[in-house]
Order: sequence, then C-alpha cells, then structure tokens
Amino acid sequence: MTNSNPDSHAVQNQDAPIQDAPASPSFLRDIIAEDVRTRKYGDAQVQTRFPPEPNGYLHIGHAKAICIDFGLADEFGGKTNLRFDDTNPEKEEQEYVDSIMADVRWLGFEWDRLCYASDYFPQLFEWAVQLVKAGKAYVDDLSVEQIREYRGNFTEPGKDSPYRTRSIEENLDLFLRMKQGEFPDGSRVLRAKIDMASLNLNMRDPVMYRILHAPHQRTGDQWSIYPMYDFAHGQSDSIEHVTHSMCTLEFADHQPLYRWYIEQLGIFPTQQIEFDRLNLTYTLLSKRKLLQLVEEKRVSGWDDPRMPTLAGIRRRGFSAEALRTFCAAIGVSRTNGATDIEMLEHYQRDDLNRRASRAMAVLHPLKVVIDNYPVDQVEFVEVLNNPEDPSAGTRQVPFSREIYIEQDDFREVPPPKYYRLSPGKEVRLRNAYFVTAQSVVKDADGNLLEVHCTYDPLSRGGNSPDGRKVKSTMHWVSAAHAISAEIRLYSHLFAKADPTQVEEGQDVLSNLNPNSLEILTGARLEPSLANARLGDHFQFERVGYFCLDPDSTPDSTPGHLVFNRTLPLKDSWAKVEKKKGA
Ligand code: ATP
Ligand code: MG
Repeated sequence: MTNSNPDSHAVQNQDAPIQDAPASPSFLRDIIAEDVRTRKYGDAQVQTRFPPEPNGYLHIGHAKAICIDFGLADEFGGKTNLRFDDTNPEKEEQEYVDSIMADVRWLGFEWDRLCYASDYFPQLFEWAVQLVKAGKAYVDDLSVEQIREYRGNFTEPGKDSPYRTRSIEENLDLFLRMKQGEFPDGSRVLRAKIDMASLNLNMRDPVMYRILHAPHQRTGDQWSIYPMYDFAHGQSDSIEHVTHSMCTLEFADHQPLYRWYIEQLGIFPTQQIEFDRLNLTYTLLSKRKLLQLVEEKRVSGWDDPRMPTLAGIRRRGFSAEALRTFCAAIGVSRTNGATDIEMLEHYQRDDLNRRASRAMAVLHPLKVVIDNYPVDQVEFVEVLNNPEDPSAGTRQVPFSREIYIEQDDFREVPPPKYYRLSPGKEVRLRNAYFVTAQSVVKDADGNLLEVHCTYDPLSRGGNSPDGRKVKSTMHWVSAAHAISAEIRLYSHLFAKADPTQVEEGQDVLSNLNPNSLEILTGARLEPSLANARLGDHFQFERVGYFCLDPDSTPDSTPGHLVFNRTLPLKDSWAKVEKKKGA
C-alpha cells in the first residue's frame, strides 16, 4: 500500500535543494491562499501552531505535522507557535517538553511564541464559569462509567443525566467548590449542555472539567480541577489568534464542538482543517505504544535507533533535511493510508549518498596474506572521500601484506556466477591492486583461517597497464592498521507491514521483529575512522551508511567505538518505483 494521495509522488524532486523542494500540502495551501486573497482575517497574518501533548517523544508523524504547520506559515509570511497542550498532568513530564523543543529545532524550525495551554487555565476557568452562568454547562455527579452508559452510541441516542436540570446557582456553587478542592477525584465533572441526541457523540454533553488532585509540572498544586483536552484545545487556538489550525483527521468529529465553544464564548474564530495522519509500514506511530515499548524495555529507550521517534532516527543517522524532503514528497490528503517505509529510506539514502564520507570497513573479517608483497612494506593509497563531492578531498589509506576482506567475498568452491575471490580468480582490491587467490589455510576442524594471494605490482591504483579486466572490486583494510569497533545493524522494529494486524487476544507487540538488532563485535575498520565524530555520516563501501553512536563517547568506554547502521545500501524503493513505471 502506498500513500493514498494519487499525486503524492508526482511532486518529488530529489535533486532540488530543500528550499526549492515543492512543498506539497496543496489543498491546505489552497485554503490559506484563498483566505489571504479574500482577507478573511483582515490584516491579521497567517498564524499556525504545532500543539503537542507533552506525554512522549515526537515521532515521524509529528514531523509531517510540523513541516505543514511551520512550512505553510512561512510560505505566507505568517508565524507558528509551539504550544504544549498540557492538560493531563498524570501523563506529562518536563523531560517530554524538553525533548519536543529540541526535536522541533533539530528538524529545522524555530517557533514564534512558546505557549502552554496551562498558561490559559485561569482564562479557561473564567470561560467555564461564563458558560455555567449562561445555563450552558452543568455539574454532573454521575460516575465516569454512568456517563459512558448514558451517552448512548452510534445507533442509540443518549439519555439526559438526572443532574442536567440543576439550577445555575447550584451549578456555580458546586463548580467553585470543585475548584477549591472540596471533592474527591472522580466524584463530579462539569459538562457542556449541548444535545444528548446529537448524531455526533462529541456533542452529547461533553465533559469540560474533571476533578484531579494531581500536581502539574508547570502550575504545581494550584489546581484541583483540570480542563479536558477538548475544552482547552480550540480555545487555546483562539487565544493565540490561530487562523489555520491544522490537525489530523481524527479531530474532524471534534471540530463542531470546538466551534460550539468558540461561538458560545464569542471569541476569535479559529478555522480547523484536517489532513491525513502519516502511517508507515513496519512502524507504529503512536506515543502510547512507543511508551509501552520503552516501559517494557523492548527497546533501549525513546532514542533507541529502531524507534520512529525523531530522537531515535537522529541517533540512527537520519538527517533532518531528508526528513523534510520526505514530508514534502508524501503530500497531504483527506483520507488515511499507509506510506511504504522504503520511501522514507529512499530519501535518506539519497541524502546520505551526497553527504557521507566513504570509508572501508570489514564487518565479517577474513585474513588475506599477499605472499609476494614485501613483508615490512606499507604503502598509502590516495582515496576520494566522496566521489559525489570533490570538495570533500582525499585521504591516505594504508596497504600492507596482510589485509582483511569480507568472509562473503571469498568462496573456496565458487557457485555459478560468483565473481568474487576464489582459488585462481583475480579481483581488484579497491584503489589498490589486483590480487589472485592461490591457496587457503585451515585449522584442524577445517575452518578457513587465511587466504593466500599474489598481487600484480603493476596494477597499483586498481588498473592493469595491459588492460586486463576483472569482474569484481572488493573493499579491504590493512590488518596491522585496522581499528576494531562494535557494529549495530538495525532492521524494522516490526515484522509485519501493518503491525496493528494481530491474532485474537494478541497485543501489537507480538508483531515485534525479534531480529531488529544484530551486534557485531569483530569488525575491522580503516584507521581514519578512529577520528569519526558524533554527527558524521559514513558510507562503508559496499556495506551501507553508518554513523557513530553516542555510546562511543569517552564517558561510556574510552576507545570503544560503536557504529550504527543507518541503512544498508540497497534501495528497494527505487525498485518499487521502477516496477510501477514499467
Ligand atoms: P499519538 O497518537 O502518537 O499519541 P497525538 O496525535 O496524540 O499522537 P499530539 O502530541 O497530540 O500527538 O500531536 C501533535 C500534533 O501532531 C497534532 O496536531 C496531531 O494531529 C499531529 N500528529 C500526530 N500524529 C501524527 C501523524 N502520525 N501524522 C501526522 N500528524 C500527526
Ligand atoms: Mg493527541
């Protein structure tokens, strides 16, 4: 399944710089453009906001929303607030607030105002009082379960609560006493008096305030009642004069309620527009589920490189630029679908191909001895750091008599069409020499220990003056100069394309891929990689894209390098695209 927007791929242009990348949220842009043209909001500028609940780390789905909120405001010369919708103190933490701010900045955006719904608690309370006084809200003593029962369902209308007809005076008195902390948690709520028979369940007298004797990360013990998300979100937009409040489709059914509050209160008429949620194959984009993975220690933390969080993919070596290009390419639509994760990986690879320094690293080493190479000789071969970027310069890589190659690059008995090294076969060692395998050394159990080769001294640089051709070029590292490192290979966290498809009674976590992390401890790397720094990107030639992991920092284990595989080289999305074109 691919993104359901039929023209969502038409807009991708991989070679264009980011600022010229076609921003594709077209129907959103059209609405804003029309509002600007008709001066719907008079002289007011376009104002958007990104409104996370600080109850987890941001994920790739949020990146889509951020690119839309900030990107469209930018385009129209408007502004974007970062607003924390922090109405649920039991699930929220300062750690999440901090990580969200860091992630928005990492993605490349800077907010205009930093806002918190909790800053509006006094105003929201006043508005609730206003609605009580207008006979539009009442205190209900039904329990949470009873309220649910009374609400009815899609086929049956709701029933009025027996407390719905309380007098305004009694409601006011009870609501003020709720605020003063007189009643225990869950004993009463304040509800809007709308319509228990509405076809929209959100309009069946929704709860506005609940009693909760819990400290809030910003307001401390000041409140013993908290507004529901739905009583805070729309009015927070209104307070900030948000002209275009863009959010995902699941909020479409809430829109009439947000409008109702705004109309009853006679405040700034924010316009809400919904777009499709990003879903990725082999991935779960739900903070609640991601929290479960963290809490049950199925991953090492929110920033585990297998997590679809921005913290995770950053640690994995994904770049913000490529993520923004991806977000532009997927576009927006008004129906939810799923995007192939290969498409995200394709944009990352494309970006990494341009920026990553090349290096040679042997993940599964096999010793090769070049018998006719002088024992103590060391030569340095000059290698381009990045063939895609001449300005990245060159480096000197040591070559000597004993080297390592990948175990996969040698077969004692080659299968058909195997062009790599085998007895009697000549291959090229990248940037160095032609070598021909002559013999092998094995241990008593018959395990391969060494391959012995001869080299052609005239083929230095990787070409023979007599024009002889070889079918294979292999990477290598000089045994005496190699450094060792731990290599972490990642693959999809979930084994199923749609991880939500589970057997009866099973949890989505039953779809976790048991092989999503493989750790290699014996890898041998060219010595220049000892200077790798956090944030550098590498292409280990013929292997994949890698970056240094923070576990490599001196305060973990000095000299112990850990490299994360960002992605293997193979681009399956390009193949998918090709097939589609065919
Ligand atoms: P989750 O379901 O992962 O907990 P959420 O919607 O509860 O996400 P919020 O913190 O409320 O998370 O989200 C902030 C903004 O990001 C909202 O406007 C929401 O619509 C948007 N958003 C969340 N998930 C996605 C997604 N998968 N694709 C696009 N936008 C998203
Ligand atoms: Mg939410």
